[in-house]
Amino acid sequence: NAFLLLSAPIADTELNQQQVYQMNTRVRTLIPVLTERSDYFSHYKINLYDEDCPLWDNNNAMCSNRGCAVDTLNETEIPEVWRTLSALAPSSQSNSTACMWKPDSRMDYCYWDDEDDGTNSHCVYVSLVKNPERFTGYAGEHSNLIWKSIYEQNCFPASETKDDAEASTEIGTLDVNSMDPFAVKSVEEAAEMPGACLEKRMFNRLISGFHASISTHVCQEYFNAETQRWESNLDFWMAKVGYFPERVENIFFNYAVLHQALVRLSHLIHESPNNTFLSFCPANAALDENTRLAFDQLTGIVAQDPHVVSFEQLFSDDSSRRVKEEFRNRFRNISRIMNCVGCDKCRLWGKVQTAGYGTALKLLLEPETKLSDLRPAEVVALVNTFGRISRSVDSVFSFTIQKKTNDILA
Ligand code: FAD
Repeated sequence: NAFLLLSAPIADTELNQQQVYQMNTRVRTLIPVLTERSDYFSHYKINLYDEDCPLWDNNNAMCSNRGCAVDTLNETEIPEVWRTLSALAPSSQSNSTACMWKPDSRMDYCYWDDEDDGTNSHCVYVSLVKNPERFTGYAGEHSNLIWKSIYEQNCFPASETKDDAEASTEIGTLDVNSMDPFAVKSVEEAAEMPGACLEKRMFNRLISGFHASISTHVCQEYFNAETQRWESNLDFWMAKVGYFPERVENIFFNYAVLHQALVRLSHLIHESPNNTFLSFCPANAALDENTRLAFDQLTGIVAQDPHVVSFEQLFSDDSSRRVKEEFRNRFRNISRIMNCVGCDKCRLWGKVQTAGYGTALKLLLEPETKLSDLRPAEVVALVNTFGRISRSVDSVFSFTIQKKTNDILA
């Protein structure tokens, strides 16, 4: 049951899934304080109906399921804190400098088509609480094509994520059904891996973990048409995730990545003399204070956890540095593919979570990132994506217990 988070070069601590689960239980109750009760973290401004899909011209396969609909906010429903943020965006007329941010897009791992410039009429505001990520019925050829394109055209081919011995037996590009490129490496195997192989493998694991996490949410909150109730669906989860140990591992891997990104964010906040980033608006001092307190508590707890992975060693030699731009472009393209998702609610959460992972990569792989390089939406996405993966870790344990109990009773 050894849990090697990535493989030897960046794993500081070997944790097993049980230990990660325990780490997670310490933050489980705090996350909803932010993601459900704070106006800032429970809302999102997003370009949801953009037609800029790189996969096909005519994105006409929109899902008509009721479960796919997203309730957007009208003008009067937009929380004050988000209105203030829009007014303070760099290109707005406001001359206030207290809450300004000016992200350096060269460091972005995510495609930002919805810059919060106060002028983008395609942007809508949504409550993430009122539009929960869960089963929507979106499936079939359309969703499969999206995952296929992500794995076959945007992940790294299996031949590039394997060491020489493995690669010599491997031909062709990544087969979606081949789990090898996502498999966890032992310490000894990892030491043998050629340059940049580790980074490419990490990329593939991140995407597989993202997919496995979505599948877990869909199965945890599944609409049972017979009972007309929202229930968890163990059989469905076993078929999508549970029978593939590497997919489960990748959920834990993603937890470690997002966890480490929050630690880095907490350091940046404490290093920042005025903490202006979370001081949204003087008029909103009480609200601001509650959000800040909950955020400090969450990041304070994660900062005390064992230092699990070190990203400093990634992209540290010449051959791996050369693929860094490719790594970034591939991730950006996947975030753009989210525009192709044919179900509004799935697209909303696909975009939130790719933005969350993109922010984590920016924080962990770009050491010069400053607080002022982050958009408010990136921080909201990071915290919500951590909330989602935390939920997945929890679900993995409840599904595993259910499965064991069923097997004993059978
Ligand atoms: P899929 O999940 O579509 O998987 C396709 C193929 O990918 C599988 O056959 C398998 O070979 C491979 N695969 C599966 N999981 C992994 C993994 N973890 N690692 C590597 N390979 C893997 N549906 C909802 O009900 N609610 C949502 O909120 C939702 N959000 C979505 C967001 C996005 C971005 C996308 C693309 C789809 C979303 N969907 C959502 C649809 C959902 O992900 C599935 O596509 C759908 O449930 C059909 O599942 P499936 O069993 O056919 O396999």
